[in-house]
Amino acid sequence: FSERKETLDDGETIIYHKDYTEDLVRENATLFSLVRNGELYDMLRTIRNFEDRFNQFKHYGWIFANDEKFTESFQNQVKNLCSGSVTFVHLPEQMWNYPEFIDRAKADQARRKMQRQQIKYGGSESYRHMCRFFSGVFYRLEAMKKYRYFWRVEPDVEFKCSIKYDPFEVMRKENKMYGFTLAPLELHTTVPTLWNSALEYMAKYPERIAQDNNFLFLTDDDGKTFNMCHFWSNFEIGDLDFFRSDKYNHFFNFMDHKGGIYYERWGDAPIHSIAVSILLPHNRLKHFTSTGYLHKPNLQCDGSSEMMIENECICSPEDDGSWGDQSCIPKIYDIHKDWQRPWY
Ligand code: GDP
Ligand code: MN
Repeated sequence: FSERKETLDDGETIIYHKDYTEDLVRENATLFSLVRNGELYDMLRTIRNFEDRFNQFKHYGWIFANDEKFTESFQNQVKNLCSGSVTFVHLPEQMWNYPEFIDRAKADQARRKMQRQQIKYGGSESYRHMCRFFSGVFYRLEAMKKYRYFWRVEPDVEFKCSIKYDPFEVMRKENKMYGFTLAPLELHTTVPTLWNSALEYMAKYPERIAQDNNFLFLTDDDGKTFNMCHFWSNFEIGDLDFFRSDKYNHFFNFMDHKGGIYYERWGDAPIHSIAVSILLPHNRLKHFTSTGYLHKPNLQCDGSSEMMIENECICSPEDDGSWGDQSCIPKIYDIHKDWQRPWY
C-alpha cells in the first residue's frame, strides 16, 4: 500500500491514508475509539488483537479521538499497528464541555454528593463529558461525515474469538441500525430520574415512538420502572444515519436538557439503549454473538462447541456472562417471538 498524509481544515484532524492496491470488498464504515494518551498501551494491545481477529482481512480505517492533543509517539505507535487508514482527531472545545443550559454550581454539588456516596465515577467531571460526547456528539465529527456505519472499540477490550465475516455487511444486508453484544444491568444510583424523563418524552411525542419497538426490554412492570437493562455501548456497531437523524437528535436534545448527564451520571449506554428501543422497531436491532468480546468484568463466550472451534475462541463458555441471570440478553429473546436464539 501507499501512505499519504492529509490535514483537515480545522488543523486538528490528521489523516494517514493507506491506499491498498488489492481488491477489497468493504462497507462504508469506520472503526472509532475515544482514548487518552495515557491509555496508549491498552489501546495498542486492543488494536493488535482486533487486527488479528478481524481487521487484517478488511483494513477498515480507524478514527481516534481525544479531548487533548495526541502525542507524536502515540500517533506513531498506533499508526504502526493499524492495517487501515488512521485518523487522529483533537476534539474542539465545545465537543467536550458543558452545554450553556447546564448550571455548573448544581453539577459541582451533584458530583461532590455522588463522590461521598462512593458511586463509581460519581465525582468525575471528565467521565460526564465523555458520556455526553458518546450520547450526542461523536457522530457530528467532521471525520465521521463520510461514513454510514461505525464500530466503537475501547482501549483494553479484547476479542477472544475470530470474526470471520464482516459485521458491517451484516448491518447493511439485514437492514440493522444498532448492533450489540452484552446487555448488563446499570447502577441504579447513576440514573434516578432517567426513566421518568424517557416516559415524559414518550407521553409528549407519541408520534415519534416506533411500532413494534423494544420498550419492554427496559422494564419488568409494563413501564412503571426501569429494570436497568441496557446495551453495553463500549461495544457498539451503529448506523450513523440514525444517530445523525432528527429522530435521534430530537430525543437526545430532550434528554440533554433534562440535565441528568451532569446532575446525575446518565451514561451514553442507557441513553442509546432507550433511544434505539423506543425510536426503532425491534427488528432494526442486531445481537452479535460468538465474538468472545471482553470488557472487564463482562465476557461474551457463547456459541456451539463447533463455533468455538471454527472461530478459534480462547475462552470458556463457563465464563460467559451474556446468557446468565445477571444479563438481559435472554429477555430480548423472551419478549420478541421472531427473535430466534442463535444456535439452539
Ligand atoms: P468505563 O468503560 O465506563 O469504565 O469507562 P472508560 O474509562 O473505559 O471510558 C470509556 C471510553 O472513553 C474509553 O474509550 C476511554 O478511553 C474514553 N475516555 C474516558 N475518559 C476520557 C477522557 O477524559 N479523555 C479521553 N480522551 N478519553 C476518555
Ligand atoms: Mn471501558
